[in-house]
Amino acid sequence: MRDELNQLKKEALQELEITDQLNVLKEVKVKYLGKKGALTKILRGMGRLSEDERPIIGKLANEIRDELEKAFEDRESKLKDLELQKRWEKEKIDITLPGRHVERGAIHPLKKVLDEVHEIFLGMGYDIAEGPEIETDHFNFEALNIPKDHPAREMQDSLYITDEILLRTHTSPVQARTMQKLVPEKPIRIICSGKVYRKDDDATHSPMFHQIEGLVVDEKITLGDLKGTLLTFARQMFGENVDIRLRPSYFPFTEPSAEVDISCVICEGHGCRVCSKTGWLEILGAGMVHPNVFLKSGYDPDKVTGFAFGMGVERIAMLKYGVDDLRIFFDNDKRMLEQFK
Ligand SMILES: [Zn+2]
Repeated sequence: MRDELNQLKKEALQELEITDQLNVLKEVKVKYLGKKGALTKILRGMGRLSEDERPIIGKLANEIRDELEKAFEDRESKLKDLELQKRWEKEKIDITLPGRHVERGAIHPLKKVLDEVHEIFLGMGYDIAEGPEIETDHFNFEALNIPKDHPAREMQDSLYITDEILLRTHTSPVQARTMQKLVPEKPIRIICSGKVYRKDDDATHSPMFHQIEGLVVDEKITLGDLKGTLLTFARQMFGENVDIRLRPSYFPFTEPSAEVDISCVICEGHGCRVCSKTGWLEILGAGMVHPNVFLKSGYDPDKVTGFAFGMGVERIAMLKYGVDDLRIFFDNDKRMLEQFK
């Protein structure tokens, strides 16, 4: 029995030495020291021993058990160390590698212009109004004094969803919506902006572009108020030396109507290629709100007057930043966008 025990110890130590995985080591331990393991099996034969031998063999068995348990423990901690080392090796970070470069973006020039125009009019006490890009024929045309057979439709409309619903061709429907919402006859001072959709597509026109419009309605609003407002805007936007002029024009929803020019920001009015030698640059359309528009929105044109104006954001950005082709605003060319950092 003594030999059996010594043999077991030898085998166990040998097997332990070649085991290099923790989960296998556990199985080996059970195989030798577990409840149904090899050691227990040998000790079951103790009954066959004489009274004298029994305590001696018992002591030896305990010693071997302790010794093996210690050996298994040592091996286990060694394997754990090895595993940890392997993991560190795998997850090692090379701190000498250069970091990943994060590129800084820039605000798009159109957004910049929009923000700036908003800022100027907010400073004059205007509110910002919003409306849907998918608009009804009523708000896009009818409410703005553009009936079904009006030629102005032919110049604007591009994409109908049904006979009565289309992509808005201007931001003016927001004005009509605001007036209908605010009846009865509260003063209005709003600015609205957003995407609009038309048929044009060339160097200075895009089928999708951005407009900003303003509307003021109150008692005793005059053309003088309109001119003063636009002059204030033009000087804050383009510089203190800028002048404006109003040329008679036609829009279905204003009467009288005017095209508004600023003195050329490139040549300061002397005449250059950009202003076609005239010294003036057209920047927006404006006018006094047409009585029919008031009537359609439930206002009494005998009691209130108002003015409205609208401009293309792309046009303003082109003038402000000296861009000669509007399409580059939508090309996502980083070389252009990087200049606005
Ligand atoms: Zn000029």
